[in-house]
Amino acid sequence: MSKACKACSRLNESNVCVACGATDFSSRWNGLVIIINPEKSVVAEKLGIKEKGEYALSVQ
Ligand SMILES: [Zn+2]
Repeated sequence: MSKACKACSRLNESNVCVACGATDFSSRWNGLVIIINPEKSVVAEKLGIKEKGEYALSVQ
């Protein structure tokens, strides 16, 4: 099961976030969001996502 970065919500398999480099993760997250075109996505804009990938909608 992937962990969600607490800083940017990016889902990660490793212990260092591939999107922002943070090391603080949570296994308690909800709502999978897959961003393919960050520059064209309204969802990405709302969530402040600038890199493509899988993100959690909410992280606890
Ligand atoms: Zn991150």
